[in-house]
Amino acid sequence: MSTYAGQAAENVTLPSSLDEAVAALAAMPSAVPVAGGTDLMAAVNSGLLRPAALVGLGRISEIRGWQYADGAALLGAGLTHARMGRPDFAALIPALAAAARSAGPPQIRNAGTLGGNIVTAAPTGDALPVLAALEASVILAGPEGDRELPVSHLLTGMDPLRPGELLAFVRIPLLHAPQTFLKATGRTGPGRATASVALVVDPARRQVRCSVGAVAPVPLRPLEAEQWVAGLIDWDGERTLAPEACTAFGEYVAAACIPDQPGVELPPAAVQLRRTVATLSRRALGRALA
Ligand SMILES: Cc1cc2nc3c(=O)[nH]c(=O)nc-3n(C[C@H](O)[C@H](O)[C@H](O)COP(=O)(O)OP(=O)(O)OC[C@H]3O[C@@H](n4cnc5c(N)ncnc54)[C@H](O)[C@@H]3O)c2cc1C
Repeated sequence: MSTYAGQAAENVTLPSSLDEAVAALAAMPSAVPVAGGTDLMAAVNSGLLRPAALVGLGRISEIRGWQYADGAALLGAGLTHARMGRPDFAALIPALAAAARSAGPPQIRNAGTLGGNIVTAAPTGDALPVLAALEASVILAGPEGDRELPVSHLLTGMDPLRPGELLAFVRIPLLHAPQTFLKATGRTGPGRATASVALVVDPARRQVRCSVGAVAPVPLRPLEAEQWVAGLIDWDGERTLAPEACTAFGEYVAAACIPDQPGVELPPAAVQLRRTVATLSRRALGRALA
């Protein structure tokens, strides 16, 4: 983002390590971190944000890749969608790769990062339901040191970023388990999700974990539907389900995420959204079990 210096702030710092970035934020409490700038510059250009200073994260190589740690993948917050969409990453975390490949047009995928997707926390953030289904955690670096918390705590605002903190890494348990991500967009073609579903079939914990994105401010986990369908699976056998069971699961998920209101008829848009979520959930389960 070579243009943001002139447009948004005269004061731009470009640290080359996480420590330097944390120090820069401590020295300039009014500064705003910027990674790919795809969300931030949209806010600046529309007049919603006028940052006094920027701390650019694009030169911090330690957060642009990933490493392995204790059965988990430690993903740098600066990983771009384009990088996560590549085959070597897809072999590691297929559902996150699928989400990354579906996130906007190529120029957005080349610049936009995992960390920016999480911190923006838009309902349509494609990485978010995947991280919820995989039960990921985030590692935050700040002036008081590092701390780690479940991604859901950050997304729901239960434990928000504190002043001067940066999202440094995302820890994802490596499951060796089938996982899928499916997304529905508007009729005008590819773009932001109207609904998305991430699903993991985890034989080690005998769990099906499902997360629905874009239908609420944060990804939703339909826990009763997950438990119900996990109870139908023969975990010691072939782990297949009849199509009727997958259909019933889809309807269970959809009704949990878009519930009936007592005494009120569901508006047509909600009925349509429920159908979409039911279809995505049915297909996601079918593909994960295939
Ligand atoms: C045309 C268009 C289409 C898009 N389509 C999609 C789509 O289909 N799916 C989708 O999910 N998203 C989409 N997006 C949104 C966007 O591209 C993503 O959310 C992207 O991942 C944001 O990452 P970024 O690096 O550009 O974040 P930035 O814009 O740099 O930052 C976003 C916010 O996060 C903060 N931030 C960034 N990194 C850190 C960090 N490491 N620590 C602390 N704070 C940080 C910034 O201060 C800012 O508040 C689209 C955007 C555009 C403009």
